[in-house]
Amino acid sequence: MTLSLHGMGVSRGIAIGRVHIIERDRLDIPEYHVETDQVKTETRRLLDAVSLAKQQLRAIRDHIPAATSPDIAPFIDTHLLMLDDAVLTQEPLRLIKSARHNAEWALQLQRDALMHVFDEMEDPYLRTRKDDIDHVVTRIQRILLRQEPLRHEEPDSRLSGYVLIADDLSPADTVLMQHHGVLAFVTEYGGPTSHTAILARSLIIPAIVGLHEAGRLAREDDMVIVDGNAGVMLVDPDEHSLQYYRKRQQEDRKYYAGLIRLKETPAKTLDHVPIRLQANVELPQDFEIVRQVGASGVGLYRTEFLYMNRETPPEEEEHYETYLSVLDTMAGLPLTIRTMDLGADKQVDGGKQGGSVQANPALGLRAVRLCLKEPALFRPQLRAILRASAHGSIRLMIPMLSNMQETRQVLQMIDEIKAELHSQGVEFDADIPVGAMIEVPAAAICADIFAGQLDFLSIGTNDLIQYTIAIDRVDDEVSYLYEPLHPAVLRLIRMTLDAGARADIPVAMCGEMAGDIKFTQLLLALGLREFSVHPAYLLEVKKNILESELERLTGVADAALKASTAADVEKLLEQL
Ligand code: PEP
Ligand code: MG
Repeated sequence: MTLSLHGMGVSRGIAIGRVHIIERDRLDIPEYHVETDQVKTETRRLLDAVSLAKQQLRAIRDHIPAATSPDIAPFIDTHLLMLDDAVLTQEPLRLIKSARHNAEWALQLQRDALMHVFDEMEDPYLRTRKDDIDHVVTRIQRILLRQEPLRHEEPDSRLSGYVLIADDLSPADTVLMQHHGVLAFVTEYGGPTSHTAILARSLIIPAIVGLHEAGRLAREDDMVIVDGNAGVMLVDPDEHSLQYYRKRQQEDRKYYAGLIRLKETPAKTLDHVPIRLQANVELPQDFEIVRQVGASGVGLYRTEFLYMNRETPPEEEEHYETYLSVLDTMAGLPLTIRTMDLGADKQVDGGKQGGSVQANPALGLRAVRLCLKEPALFRPQLRAILRASAHGSIRLMIPMLSNMQETRQVLQMIDEIKAELHSQGVEFDADIPVGAMIEVPAAAICADIFAGQLDFLSIGTNDLIQYTIAIDRVDDEVSYLYEPLHPAVLRLIRMTLDAGARADIPVAMCGEMAGDIKFTQLLLALGLREFSVHPAYLLEVKKNILESELERLTGVADAALKASTAADVEKLLEQL
């Protein structure tokens, strides 16, 4: 019997295939032998992993919120003690040396041996300590497995052609999927503008998030249909559904093939108002599509990718080489590089935040805040962007600015680096435009102040909506409140656009709202003239712009701004 499950469609398209369930807690432990001359390295690898596990646990213990039950800290202390216990590591170290087992496997053998000992125990309390061993060993094994260099460069064809179901996926996991030929993915948790969802759109694979119990109601190898538009997954579909969705897959393909004809058509409204249509880029391969869809440039290049699936952050040269090769692919099109926005939903290994646990990560040390706190992380990127600016049209964009002090600090840092480069005889664009993302309500309300000090603004609606309505963008429990048409959001957008117009600087929108054709006409009515959207959505947005007449839209903005609810605005838009 067909089972129909509903979540949130976050990346459109239809996939038909078999299920593979990712069980995060069950790791695939590789077993291999190390060469004799590698024994020392392998021993070091295990000891380093144990010490990193300790660091992680200490950080967790040190950040336990005050309101938490006092039982929790001793629980973590127990795990810390286990990590210090020779019983856990001595035997694996011996196995690495004598049997030349790899560290993960040596640890697995010791885990199994200890489990067996606990299984034999009469005392039920002691028997429950088995779980502790499992947790501690899994923690070390996770660290060991992540340490494998460039794991994402090793294609794993076993996942090719499958629909993946997981409780949740980190952005780093999602990025790995591109190499695996995954058909679609479905997660039990997560919200529509989580970074993971954005990456799914970037990889152009259908995705559903917040589909509770997906991993329980679908089983390994079940046939499923994933409808990324509607957020529906059909498990074990009947012949009728299969036929229907196969037909829709064909129609989709035809529709998108038709859109490509608009590639060369200049983006302007029916009444000839030119609109700038740029692309958002996540991953190196996106740059190819930017040209294929005829974008006029890149309005948002998210640089977090550079920090993913690695232990240490990239150095200046790596940044520089990456930007040069991006400029090369862009062949003269302007590029807006956003400085790194790590933290909150964008936790990656190479951001030096590994062990820290924050109570409210979205309100914590992320993006420019982290950059200003850790200049050693920020300066290499700024230097590289400035150096690259000598070789092409580059704009520099700062995320998450919330006040002028931060803005001045960043501008001062840029000036210092410019002076440094100048004294070293290194070329750069002395007039490189520097802009801010407006994604914190404080910045939108004070957009006039920001506009007075910067060369351009770009509205990041993903965060602006989250902070305005006070809902975590990755939390599916509150995603029903995530409402781009909330009058407060619309007013902040309008304030930012007005501030830009008064200061005579360009204002773009680069949040997901800009790429959703439900909102194109309203945004035009509010005064937006620069859209930056994922390349996969660009031609569809262009089609809507080409069919819009600004004159007909006068009045829409005022009516929307006066509306009391998002539902009222939605009705208004339906009438258009
Ligand atoms: C935004 O917040 O709208 C945005 C574009 O940035 P990100 O999604 O990377 O946080
Ligand atoms: Mg943002």
